[in-house]
Amino acid sequence: MRDPELDPTATYRLDQQAVRRLTARVRASGDSTQLVCSPIDGAPLGMIPQSSPEDVAAAFARARAAQRRWAHVPVVERQRLLLGLHDLILQQREEITDLIVSESGKARKHAFDEVMHVAMTARYYGLKSAAHLASDHRSGVLPGLTRVQVNHVPKGVVGIISPWNYPFTMALADGLPALMAGNAVVAKPDAQATLTALLGMRLLEEAGFPVDLWQIVAGSGEVIGTEITQRADYVCFTGSTATGRLIARQCADRLIGCSLELGGKNPMLVLRDADPDRAAEGAVRAAFSNSGQLCVSMERLFVADQIYDRFAARFVERTRAMTFGDPMQWATDMGPLVSQDQLDKVTAHVDDAVAKGATVLTGGRPRADLGRYFFEPTILEGVTPAMTCFGSETFGPVISLYPFHSETEVIDRANEGSYGLNASIYSRDVSRARALAARIRCGSVNINEAFAASFASLDSPMGGMRDSGSGRRQGSEGIRRYVELQTVAAQRLMKLGPLPGMSDEQWGALLVRNERIMRKLRRA
Ligand code: NAD
Repeated sequence: MRDPELDPTATYRLDQQAVRRLTARVRASGDSTQLVCSPIDGAPLGMIPQSSPEDVAAAFARARAAQRRWAHVPVVERQRLLLGLHDLILQQREEITDLIVSESGKARKHAFDEVMHVAMTARYYGLKSAAHLASDHRSGVLPGLTRVQVNHVPKGVVGIISPWNYPFTMALADGLPALMAGNAVVAKPDAQATLTALLGMRLLEEAGFPVDLWQIVAGSGEVIGTEITQRADYVCFTGSTATGRLIARQCADRLIGCSLELGGKNPMLVLRDADPDRAAEGAVRAAFSNSGQLCVSMERLFVADQIYDRFAARFVERTRAMTFGDPMQWATDMGPLVSQDQLDKVTAHVDDAVAKGATVLTGGRPRADLGRYFFEPTILEGVTPAMTCFGSETFGPVISLYPFHSETEVIDRANEGSYGLNASIYSRDVSRARALAARIRCGSVNINEAFAASFASLDSPMGGMRDSGSGRRQGSEGIRRYVELQTVAAQRLMKLGPLPGMSDEQWGALLVRNERIMRKLRRA
């Protein structure tokens, strides 16, 4: 790759003045930079300034100062700013989508999903934060005499470490409820997602959020990421299970909380009463959206043996009909993978499966003619536990098809392995599908959809069981993770100790009498 700093003839994909206006927002004081290129054609996008550990410390210092002021801003005013951000995102959707496509290589329609997801998140927390953060009234030890309220107090500065696969959503959506709860944010996006994250920061500024409340640092996960976990009051991490474990250990050492949104090997179940065509249409989106680089996308597909052949034929047919071309265009169904590492991993999973006897129903090859990191959408059959892609997350456009006979059997197989992020069930009988969902050990189960029904229902929690993480984003859970609970109990009229003239023994007897009455009255 040409280094455009050394090669003045290099053709950039983006206007460099605009890029420099964005990158000026990275908290970085030295000269170190890193070139970022587009996965579409390798064209340079710009140079990202790199933050040192001292820069991370400076980012936290500024964020802390800003947070102290922000904590006094009423929640309704914070909400007003967030609704303003919502409007700006919709107004600037084309510019945002263009940048997401350039930086990630994903097809425009999938980049646009991100724009909508962040806008919807801004609307949701712009309308609901005050309700989620309102103090709760709880029963006191002496009813009427002990008045108790539980307050939601900001944690302080939240560190957000995010991956490359959904650069706009992952950079912003988790941070918006953190701001609404009165926190500041120091964010470290992935190196292949920094420009989009910086555009998000620009939008926050344009919406009127105070200067310094949102900081971005850039650099390697090992160095800068660790600096964040050493300074934050709470960490929101999205990425691989391996890194998630490291983050969890670092947070445990400091006794701070963290939410971990990690990997998956998600199962889709097509029951015998499902409409094969509807299920096949859903399976294409389930497996190949964003080239399969989506934590909630499907990599294991279990189909009732009665409809297996009909379903498989439709699924292959629909997959072969997908369109590939310029990811900037709406008509393109799938773009390239994000990097050579991703291409190598996906290729290795498919080659390993084929070498050990799996059958390729469609796809199975890299296609340099369609893009430097393009890999065909691939459907495998006959995958066995000896093959890497049986249980390990591929995080690419590869799905394995398995027939099943009984529902008990398929639930056991869906629960196999250590992940538990998302599952999908296709059936005409929604009550039966709901009953099966209750037996699946995943944080979300979608019926007659793959992932969008739960992910886009922003009032409900989203996250993983087992090795897929802990904690939840979205809904009341997604904002309350960013607050400390503080109980304030006000005692009136009668103190909680022996009354005047009463001995400790008499006070003890009174407590016992009171306890019996409360039990009879069924007061908790
Ligand atoms: P990754 O763990 O390699 O990197 C994620 C982020 O962590 C990056 O910003 C990276 O720089 C940083 N990082 C790396 N090492 C670090 C360290 N030692 N300390 C602190 N930070 C560090 O993951 P990835 O390959 O970028 O992302 C793909 C993975 O993310 C997949 O497993 C996918 O399933 C998962 N993911 C999960 C969700 C979810 O919501 N559950 C969403 C998107 C992606």
